[in-house]
Order: sequence, then structure tokens, then C-alpha cells
Amino acid sequence: MSQQGYVATPPYSQSQPGIGLSPPHYGHYGDPSHAGSPPGMMKPAGPLGAAAPGGMLPQGPSPPGPHQFGQNGAHAQGHPPQRFPGPPPVNSAASSYAPYSPSTPSSYPSPASTSVIAQLGHQLSAMHINSYGSGMAPPGQGPPGPPSAPLFQGPPQPPQPSIMQPGSQVLPPPPTTALNGPGASPLPPSTHRQDGLPGPAPLNAQYQPPPPPGQTLGTGYSPQQANYGPQMAGGQLSYPGGFPGGPAQMAGPPQLQKKLDPDSIPSPVSRGQVYATNTRGQVPPLVTTDCVIQDQGNASPRYIRCTTYCFPCTSDMAKQAQIPLAAVIKPFATIPSNETPLFLVNHGENGPVRCNRCKAYMCPFMQFIEGGRRYQCGFCNCVNDVPPFYFQHLDHIGRRLDHYEKPELSLGSYEYVATLDYCRKNKPPNPPAFIFMIDVSYSNIKNGLVKLICEELKTVLEKLPKEEQEDTSAIRVGFITYNKVLHFFNVKSNLAQPQMMVVTDVGEVFVPLLDGFLVNYQESQSVIHNLLDQIPEMFADSNENETVFAPVIQAGMEALQAADCPGKLFIFHSSLPTAEAPGKLKNRDDKKLINTDKEKILFQPQTNVYDSLAKDCVAHGCCVTLFLFPSQYVDVASLGLVPQLTGGTLYKYNNFQMHMDSQQFLNDLRNDIEKKIGFDAIMRVRTSTGFRATDFFGGIFMNNTTDVEMAAIDCDKAVTVEFKHDDKLGEDSGALIQCAVLYTTVGGQRRLRIHNLSLNCSSQLADLYKSCETDALINFFAKSAFKAVLHQPLKVIREILVNQTAHMLACYRKNCASPSAASQLILPDSMKVLPVYMNCLLKNCVLLSRPEISTDERAYQRQLVMTMGVADSQLFFYPQLLPIHTLDVKSTTLPAAIRCSESRLSEEGIFLLANGLNMFLWLGVSSPPELIQGIFNVPSFAHVSTDMVSIFFFHTKLIKQREQPEMVFRQFLVEDKGLYGGSSYVDFLCCVHKEICQLLN
Ligand SMILES: [Zn+2]
Repeated sequence: MSQQGYVATPPYSQSQPGIGLSPPHYGHYGDPSHAGSPPGMMKPAGPLGAAAPGGMLPQGPSPPGPHQFGQNGAHAQGHPPQRFPGPPPVNSAASSYAPYSPSTPSSYPSPASTSVIAQLGHQLSAMHINSYGSGMAPPGQGPPGPPSAPLFQGPPQPPQPSIMQPGSQVLPPPPTTALNGPGASPLPPSTHRQDGLPGPAPLNAQYQPPPPPGQTLGTGYSPQQANYGPQMAGGQLSYPGGFPGGPAQMAGPPQLQKKLDPDSIPSPVSRGQVYATNTRGQVPPLVTTDCVIQDQGNASPRYIRCTTYCFPCTSDMAKQAQIPLAAVIKPFATIPSNETPLFLVNHGENGPVRCNRCKAYMCPFMQFIEGGRRYQCGFCNCVNDVPPFYFQHLDHIGRRLDHYEKPELSLGSYEYVATLDYCRKNKPPNPPAFIFMIDVSYSNIKNGLVKLICEELKTVLEKLPKEEQEDTSAIRVGFITYNKVLHFFNVKSNLAQPQMMVVTDVGEVFVPLLDGFLVNYQESQSVIHNLLDQIPEMFADSNENETVFAPVIQAGMEALQAADCPGKLFIFHSSLPTAEAPGKLKNRDDKKLINTDKEKILFQPQTNVYDSLAKDCVAHGCCVTLFLFPSQYVDVASLGLVPQLTGGTLYKYNNFQMHMDSQQFLNDLRNDIEKKIGFDAIMRVRTSTGFRATDFFGGIFMNNTTDVEMAAIDCDKAVTVEFKHDDKLGEDSGALIQCAVLYTTVGGQRRLRIHNLSLNCSSQLADLYKSCETDALINFFAKSAFKAVLHQPLKVIREILVNQTAHMLACYRKNCASPSAASQLILPDSMKVLPVYMNCLLKNCVLLSRPEISTDERAYQRQLVMTMGVADSQLFFYPQLLPIHTLDVKSTTLPAAIRCSESRLSEEGIFLLANGLNMFLWLGVSSPPELIQGIFNVPSFAHVSTDMVSIFFFHTKLIKQREQPEMVFRQFLVEDKGLYGGSSYVDFLCCVHKEICQLLN
């Protein structure tokens, strides 16, 4: 897609590089550690110099055949025939875990595990509710696709939001459409209908069921289009569901606010079908898109998403555009059951084949030469001998004859069995252990929480994760209770009764027993059940109110260390740890700090005990997950630090009430125990020459600049990696990324998980802008801003975000867009929804304090976001709002999500809002009585009480229209003006536009 003749050359283009903002902040907030390259970090040039054009990557497409993923929906519905004989798929846990539902991607704790939403259709349909609104379109089914989409013959697509021109992406951009008011909208009148009302065309129909079996999918994904070569054109946006057309243009600030049709400003929307990863630099479908992904040589976007799939060739160009270059890596992402799990490669004692110089692992980016005797590394260009055991002849196009038999030659993601060289002390690791640590202070006993936990543990211990091929879990379990002292329990299988040992010296915690503390659950089942029955009684008469916290973690970590195994602590805690002990905390919540330069203190841990504890935990492979039940301030900034940095999760249940919240807590506990997880992990991100990973965000610890250490990493955690240039990048060779995670499985096997991704490089800014991914950009901006919160005033951080947004868009306008009137706001296709997301980020309670949000809640959300993947951050910042009343009970399809604005609600409607953390059911005053009856079993709206718990929405807050709690709900309508500050989407567009105009002048 050539941009020639399309790139505007405005009169101001002769100004200095950059657009006047200096120096560019570029996503960092004055952190001096990122200035310049540390010595010794430059990658050596390979003996062959820069790679020969087109020479480094596998040639051509995969041959079609039965082993290939077909193009049609029939294949897409199930596992494709496996390509690789030999070892079974390693990650077959994917099939034993809950299916991933891309449109409801929450993995985060608490009220909205939105898989619940996905079940909604089934559940409601079981109620035999009558269908409403006869004559309405089936939910989730938009109107027929644009007639001019010639390449995509798939299921019907809805029109994109109105400023986008329907059309084919592979054609040159159509003329831009300037909207100077509602009259200029190209949309048919029907699409102006308010969302949520019965009508033929839900404008923002985002979610589409997978195609019916046998349905032909778009040729845009055809394997025949595979072109690994250095081509730039074509592969950029050629997936169905991408935003078609040229840049968006809107009227300028004066008119914008009053005249803009809400439907004409961009909305987060898309869909897709089958996406094959065979093309370098191909922008994947949006994270909200429901599609099937085929690994054809690059890691699935479920594992890695980048802020842009085309890197600028030079650092000057990167500074000019100020688009962060980053990858969001979720190495253990859950893969839906209709996608292929990872294959396991076992080279026996030889171990993985690696480049001698840069130590990159064998992957599709290695080029075999000299008849197959040597290979050139795609990362450092070093020419290596092929080890004798690995030799294979090449075919006429220079590809190994076993190309399709070896996952590491033809796939983007796979695993290796690690040899003893990859194990601590060159010994095979012991299987991990889980230690359950229960706060038995007075209030927890009194409110029944301890009893609830103990009862539930009996059930969940039956479901400890195990290797696919094993019958029972190898994970050992141990139990500790505590208040201001610690109680260890001996639950050895030959005991008639569990034995308790009390450790009162919490200043120097030691582990009083080794034998009998960590046991096999099956073997010790009766003793363990005995213990769990006794614990609530044991402390029933305790009046102890004080608790310790750091010594609890210390004890768990030392127990794991003594057993020489990695593991996970499950801590159930309720209060501020005020007992005399290391990590003792005082109540330092101070609202007076809000909106001052000292506000950052509220986000910092109160003592450095927790920081060094986290470091020790990571060093010993000890992951900490914390279930917190606070009834007042407990200093989440301090208590949550260890869970955050050790790859654990913090679950928080404010003012826990047994009848309201226990179901949610038990769900969270079950999911957390069962979820896919790797222990004692080290991640290394390697890159081809010219750029390197410089900054990392996530549940990680780093002792040097390259090794990302993680006590554990589970299927929900992501690490965001920022890249910087250290040289020029070549358009021919592209930019290659290899992420390798060395870890221990739940069965105690040492493995390497490898994800490879190839990106394009260009010296044209337009190519860079074309290939951006807004969801990943927001993930990066959120994490870098939330990290900066610890050091900088929030006002400064917000300004940097606004400036950088304006700068990115101004650079586009100046260098890539056609000349246009200054009054028009011009957005690149790929960034159409950037302003709405950026505004959501700016309004988040971490960056914008609101009086009704507690300090703990803000600290919690800050920590939570730091480990989020792209799907989770997208949902978190822009919640899903579903018109439940339009649900087609005969279909399993959810209604299409609508925009988060009050204007989209209707009195006759019932709406579900979820952001992965909170879930609300909003009832309009004129909600259909039949639906009210079906959901709540009461005759009408007036009979619904907001503390009612529906079996369908058991952890959902009920909000009745025009009643007080509606205020809480409204702050999630993120396109509207905030109740306590924060711009509306339209106001923010005006603000950004003004900034852009200033930059351009
Ligand atoms: Zn190398």
C-alpha cells in the first residue's frame, strides 16, 4: 500500500525534526536509568554483516495439504490434524481449562470474571424468557457488510463507526471524509438509532459468533499469501475487521463539541475470522475480535502484541513520531480449545539448538546454508555449525526437508524440554508446593470466613493442577494459620491427628518442622480434612485482633526453601498488620496528600521490608497470592507489593459479606488454584541487531538489564517490554523478537517456552502509523504511567500522556496525512480509538483522584494494571456495556456491546456493564416485567431490591435507574464527563485537537 501521492507535504514540513515538543518524553517519566545504552550492550555485527535481502526468513508459504489449517470454518472448529509426530502437545492444559472467550477476556480477580457474561446467554436461555422486540435483528448480527468489500466473503459485518469509510483495506486509501457535522455523516439514517433500542442495525455490533462450520472464510488469511520476504505492502492491514479506509477527519474544536454526532466519533470495534501468522509485520485483529488464530511462523497475538508491527528504521524517526515501541508478552496465555496447543520439542541430552553467539534458540528466523551444514542466526547474523544430531538436507528452495516436522522450524511458538544445564544446581527441580496461610484473628473467625475457607479447601485441593499425562498432582501442600504468632501444622499421612507447632518469634521466623509439613494431598487427605475441620474451632475463643504479615510470607518462603522447591503461598488476610514484627504497618492514609506533589507517597510501600521480601521470594521461586478482606484501610500499597512482584494475584473483597461475596471469593480461589502456571521462571527477550529491550513492566524482578526473573507466571500475567534503537534497522531484514521463558512445570519438569515474532521496518512514517495497535499502546501507556506514579506528581504524568498523544497525532498529520483545514482533527486509521482510550486512562482513579475512591482501591488498581495483558487492559479501561434486554434467548450469542455513555441507556432496557473488576446490572425504570420476572423472580421493577442476589448475576451490583447508587455506576460510562472531574470523550478530542494545532503552529 504505497503512500506516495498520499503523503502530504505541508508548508511547515521544513521545520526541525519533531514538532516542537522537546525533549520527547516517549513514555518515560524522567527515569534516568533509561538514558543511553549501557556499555557492552551493542550487538556485535555478524561476520556476514547485514543479512542479504530476503535471505533470512523461511521462503514462501507453507505448502497446502492436510496438515495445514484449512481456510474454512469446518477446520477452524476443531483441532487441525497435528503436524508433528512424536511428543504430545505440551500445553494441552489448554483444552482442560475453561475455554478462552476472546470477546470477554477477563482474567482478573473479583466481581467480573466476565466468563460469567459469556455464560449469560446459556443461563438466560434456560429461563424460557420470551423474546422481546419482535422485528429486531438477532443480537450480535449486524447488518450486511459493506457491498464494496470484495476480498472478504465471510459472515456479515457491521459498518464501522461512521468516520471510517467502508472499503477494502488492500486498495489504496479512499479519499478522506471530512465530517463537519451530523449532516456530513455517510451513515444511513438507521444507524443513528440509539443503541439498545430494538432496531435493525446496532451500530457498534462488535461481537460476532464464529462462522458456521463449512463457511468460507476470507481470502485475506490465505496461506497462499504468505510472504516472508522483505515486502512491506499488502501485509499491513489485510485482515478482515481492520479499520478500512483513510484517516479519520473531524471538524475542529469550535464545531466539534456541539455538532458531533456521537456515532461519528471512533469506537472500539472489530471482528475477524481466521488469522494466520504467516506474514511478517502483519497487524493482528483487534484484541476484542473473535477469531481463530493459526500459528504459521509467528507467535499468536494471544502471546505477543506489539504497539506497532512496523518499527521505524532509525531512532530519529522514532523520536519524531513518539510512538512507543513495545511488546506486551503473555507467555502462558490461555489458548482456546479450537486452536493448537504448543508442541514440545525434546532433543534429549543435546538440549535446544542455540546460536553460539547470542544464544537465541532455533526458530523460523534461522537460515540454513551450505547444504544444511550451517545456519545463520537471524538475530545476530552469526553463522553456526549445525550440530551433527540436528543435520538435515535442504530442498531446492533452501529449506530443510524436515521443515514441517519440526515445530521450532515452522512455528512461532513451541516448547523445549530443558536439560540439566537449565536447572538450579544442575539438578532436576522438585515439583512445586502450595502453602495455605489463614489469618485466624478474631474478626475472621467471628464472621465465618475461616470456616468458609477451610470448607472450600477440602474441595479445591482435589483440583490441584497436574501434568496432562499424570493421574494425580505432584504438588505438595502445607498449612499455616496465624494472628500475631504463626502455627505450623504437621499433616503427615501416618498421623491420627494433625499436630500444631507455634512459632512466637516473628522477628526471626524459622520453620519448626520439615517432615510432615509439605505433603501429598492424596496421601494425607484424612489428616488434612481433620485439620480443616478443627481450625475454626481451634481459634473460636481467640480474642486476638492483631496480625503480622511479612513474617507470614517469610515463613512460607523459608518452608519452600527448606523443601528445595518452588511454590505458591495462598494468604487469606484481613487487617492492617500492626503487631510488633518486621513489616509492621501503621495507618498512614492521608487524603490531604491528594493533588499535591506528595500524593505519590500513597502508592509507595510504607517500609522497604516488603521490597526486599519480594526480592527474596523471586530468588527462591516463591509466588505469593493474597486474598484480602479489608473492612478499613489496610495499606494495599505495602501488602500488595509482594504479590505484584512475585507473579501472584491480589484479590480484594471490601467489607466482605458472607451472603453477598462468598460465591465470588470461592470462584476466584478455585480459578487461582487450577490455573495454568509456571514456576521459578527467567524470561529473556532477544532481538535482531539494531534495537533491544530496554524497559520491562510486570510481576517481575530484575537483577541485571536483561534477565527478567519471575517467581511464577500464570496464564493471566503479561510483561510489557519497551524497545529502543541502538542502530539502524533494515527494511529488508525487519525486526525480530524472540522471547524465551525458562520455567518449572506443575509436575516439576524444567522447560523452555519460546515465542518468536517478526516485525517490519520502514523509513516511511506512514508505514509506522499504519501498523499501530491501539490496545497495545494503551497497555504500554498505562503501565509506564502507573509505574511513574511512584515517583512523579500525577498532574505531570497526565500532561505527559496528553502531550504525547497530541504529538503522535500531530506528527501523523504533518508527515502522513493529506493537507486539510486546520479545523479538522485527523486521526490515523490505526489510532482512531486512541483518544477515547487515552481519556479513559487519564480518568482512571490512579491518575485522577476522586474523593469517593479509597487510597487502597487506587493502590490496588495500580498494581493490578501492571501485570495485565492487552485484552484485560482494554476491558479495564473501556468497559463492556451489553443491552441484556436484546438478548436472543434462542442464541448463545451475546448482544453486541454498546458505547459506554449514558445516552446509550434506555428506560426500557437492562444493561450489564463489566470491566473485569466490577460488574453492574443497570435496570431501566421501564424494564420489561417479563425479564425482571425471569431474572429476579419478582413481578416488576418496583419489587427489585438492590441487595437482591440473582442466581444469574451473583456477584453483580444491581443499579436501579434514578436511585442513589447509580452514581457509582455512572463513573464507568467512560465516554461521559466524570462526576468528579475527567473530560468527556468529546471534550478530550477538542483538547487533543487544540494541542495538535499548537504543535503544528
Ligand atoms: Zn545469534
